[in-house]
Amino acid sequence: MIESTKSRTSINAGLSMQNISHAFGKQKILSNISIEVEAGQVACLLGPSGCGKTTLLRIAAGLEHLQHGRITIGERLVAEDTGHHAPPERRNVGLMFQDYALFPHLNVIKNIGFGIKGTSAQRMLWIDGALERMGLTGYADRYPHELSGGQQQRVALLRALAPEPSVLLLDEPFSGLDATRRASVREQTLGFLKDAGHSAMMVTHDPEEAMFMSDTLFIMDNGLLVQSGNPIEIYRNPKNAFVASLFGQTDGIEGTVGNNGKISTPVGTFMAPGLAEGSRVDILIRPEGVNTREVNSGSNGAVALRVISARPIGRSSHLCLGTQSNVTPVCTIHARVPGIHLPEPGSLVDAIIDPSQVFVFPKETP
Ligand code: ATP
Repeated sequence: MIESTKSRTSINAGLSMQNISHAFGKQKILSNISIEVEAGQVACLLGPSGCGKTTLLRIAAGLEHLQHGRITIGERLVAEDTGHHAPPERRNVGLMFQDYALFPHLNVIKNIGFGIKGTSAQRMLWIDGALERMGLTGYADRYPHELSGGQQQRVALLRALAPEPSVLLLDEPFSGLDATRRASVREQTLGFLKDAGHSAMMVTHDPEEAMFMSDTLFIMDNGLLVQSGNPIEIYRNPKNAFVASLFGQTDGIEGTVGNNGKISTPVGTFMAPGLAEGSRVDILIRPEGVNTREVNSGSNGAVALRVISARPIGRSSHLCLGTQSNVTPVCTIHARVPGIHLPEPGSLVDAIIDPSQVFVFPKETP
C-alpha cells in the first residue's frame, strides 16, 4: 500500500521565486525576495506576523498576481512580470490552509479523491495507502464533523496531495491543533512528505515547527529576506539580534570590547571575535545556555548570581537570576534548566553560560 504513495514522486519539482517585490496600494509588502525550494525538499518561511509570508505563498500559488519578479516550478515558467500569469489550477500546486476547508457534505474518501484523475482502481489504491500511512484506516466513511482536528488536518493534507502536485504550499497547517496533537501530526506529516519525496513550502511563525520541518529555512522580517539556509546553521549562527531572538526568549546585555578582545559583564566574560577594542555591543543570551550549580562550585567560568525567582514549567524550570550588586532584585538573565530545580529566592547559585548560546552583535545605532 505504502509503495503506491511512493510511485507518484516523479512529478515533484522545485520552486524558484526570483526577485519578488509586492505592494498593496502604496504599502510595500515584499522587497526583492528570492527563494529556491529544491525538488523533494521542505522549506519553511518563518517570521513575525505581518512580515509577508502568506503573501509570498499566495503569489507562488497564483492566488495573487505577481507584480515584480519571476516564478518557475521545475522547468516551467508560471509567472513573470512581463505579464505572464498561469492561474492556480495550471500551476500544479497543492494548497493547504490553516482552516483545512474540507467539503462538509463529502466523506473522507470523497474529500481526498476530489482532485484525483485516473481510474477508480488507481484512485482507491493511492487513497488506501495514504490513509494507512497517516493512521486514518477506518475513517474513510466519516464526514469532516465526525473527525478530530488532527484527523481533519491529515485529510486536508491528503486532499492537497491527491492530484499529484509538483509543489505543496502549506499556510500554518498545524496552527489549529493543541500543542500535544500538533507535535504528533507534524511528525506524521513530515514522514509522509519525505517518504514520497514531496516538495513543499510552508508558512509558520513557530520557530520550533520551522526547525523540525524544514530542510531550508527562510527568515523574513518586514517584507525582507533576512537569512536563509540550513535551520541548524541559522540557529547556531544567527545573522543579527532579530534572528537570534526569533528562536525564543533571549536576554540582552550591553557591553564594550576590552583590549583583550573580550567583553566583561556582570554575568561573565564573552569573546568578541572581529570587533575592535572600544566597540559597543549587544550580547544576547539564550536561557537554555545558562546552567546552574551550587554556589562556590569551582566550575570554570562560573559567576555567582542571586536567584530572584524559580518556577517549574513542566519538563524544565525557569529561573530568573540577578547580580549580587543590585540592591533591589532585578532579573538580569534567565536560565532554563532541565527537570525540577527550584533554588530559594534570595539564595546564590553559580551560573555557567555555554558560549555557543551567546551572540555578540555590534550595537545598532538607532
Ligand atoms: P501572519 O503570520 O499574521 O499570517 P504574514 O507574515 O503571513 O502574517 P501577510 O498575510 O502576508 O503576513 O500580510 C503582510 C501585510 O500585507 C500585512 O500588513 C497585511 O495587512 C497586508 N495585506 C495582506 N493581504 C492584503 C490585501 N489583500 N490587501 C491589503 N493588504 C494586505
